[in-house]
Amino acid sequence: MLILPSWLITTPHQPPRPDWGVRVLGDRIDDVAPNTELQTRYPDDVVVPADGHILAPGFVNAHTHLYGVLAHGIPLDKAPSDFWAFLADFWWPLVEDALDHEMICAATDWVCAEMLRSGITGFYDCLEAPYAIPDALFAQKEVVDKRGLRGILSFEATERVSPENGRLGLQENARFIDHCRAEGGLVQGLMCFHTTFTCSAEFIRRAFALGQERGVLTHMHCNEGVHEPNYALEHFGKRTLEYYDELGVTGPHMLASQCVQLSERERTIIAERGIRVTHMPLSNCEVGGGIAPVPELTAAGVTMGLGSDGYINDFFEVMRGAFLIHKAHRLNPQVMPAHEVFYLATEGGARAIGLERVGRLEPGWTADLQIIAGDFPTPAAAHNLYEQLVLWRNHTHVRDVMVAGVWRVRGGEVLGADLGAMRARAHEAARRMWARAS
Ligand SMILES: [Zn+2]
Repeated sequence: MLILPSWLITTPHQPPRPDWGVRVLGDRIDDVAPNTELQTRYPDDVVVPADGHILAPGFVNAHTHLYGVLAHGIPLDKAPSDFWAFLADFWWPLVEDALDHEMICAATDWVCAEMLRSGITGFYDCLEAPYAIPDALFAQKEVVDKRGLRGILSFEATERVSPENGRLGLQENARFIDHCRAEGGLVQGLMCFHTTFTCSAEFIRRAFALGQERGVLTHMHCNEGVHEPNYALEHFGKRTLEYYDELGVTGPHMLASQCVQLSERERTIIAERGIRVTHMPLSNCEVGGGIAPVPELTAAGVTMGLGSDGYINDFFEVMRGAFLIHKAHRLNPQVMPAHEVFYLATEGGARAIGLERVGRLEPGWTADLQIIAGDFPTPAAAHNLYEQLVLWRNHTHVRDVMVAGVWRVRGGEVLGADLGAMRARAHEAARRMWARAS
């Protein structure tokens, strides 16, 4: 199949190419060339015309909580006063602890459709639901498989409830990783635990050991607000990443989400050890966590992706957040240029969560792609295309989405999705969750 757009983005680290397209063969990109040349080379191929459109790698949502959609609009007397109150008074008792399999699956189904509609072809999910194990990940996987996204699913093991509950959480991940690897599909697993303030040193070492035995990344939330580094200073006499370093667990197999409150020493540890980081600009604002030192981490060459955190799932909005907040914070409109933000949203995210050959449209890379309408009010050009996309598009401009060579969105419609029924199911799940809050 040939896809022939007006503009091709292979990777945002290169300028966009006018009137270039791709040939898709099976689940891979087979050839990349000017549109006219592709038609000469492959005269018998099916042609997908995309005149006036931009062909780009699909977005990779490198950190989300799919169940989070059920908390949108939950009744609260007042907003939590800080990050700790956000967890202790809101997120843990009213959201995470309420989750059962049906709520998880209803939310997963809705958000998978929402993500596809927004050009997202791959994601990493962190499920925080201590009372939904065992088998919560297996239930979730069935839904993701049906929607056809490339997903890495994990269960956030924590000793917050009890050491036994923590042990079951690690076991859930280990079983799931082994199961998915044997199956070899688009859904895989990784190892995951919560933080240094809910997990003991022994537990953290155990999580990393289980991850490394299986050759997968080990994920945790890290310094999302000032609470964790303050806790670490008080209990371990050092900041969070210094503590992980002392435990001997830091390295490129470590995926640290958030990394909002970092000392200079912690930034150095991240860069020197090759720790992967994900950045969630909008949810950092939501929880009052602060503004992550993303321009510094980028300059230090840290492998980094962008995530929605299950908050606002339109990935164009997430990109706009990353594009804008650092400029305001640094009093510098030159930081976080649009092509860098687009990179974090595609190839950067894929690298951060360990997806191989995902996030670029080049021969041999996976056919995970999106076709975006290019009908801007001003002319699109090589010098402005990334700004045009990051600033003046949203999910409604995504026309078609393909994952691993299979169309999942055509003409703006998520294929095989009965949105009315899916919305009704999500409403029912939210009603049951909200009953605890009101
Ligand atoms: Zn998160």
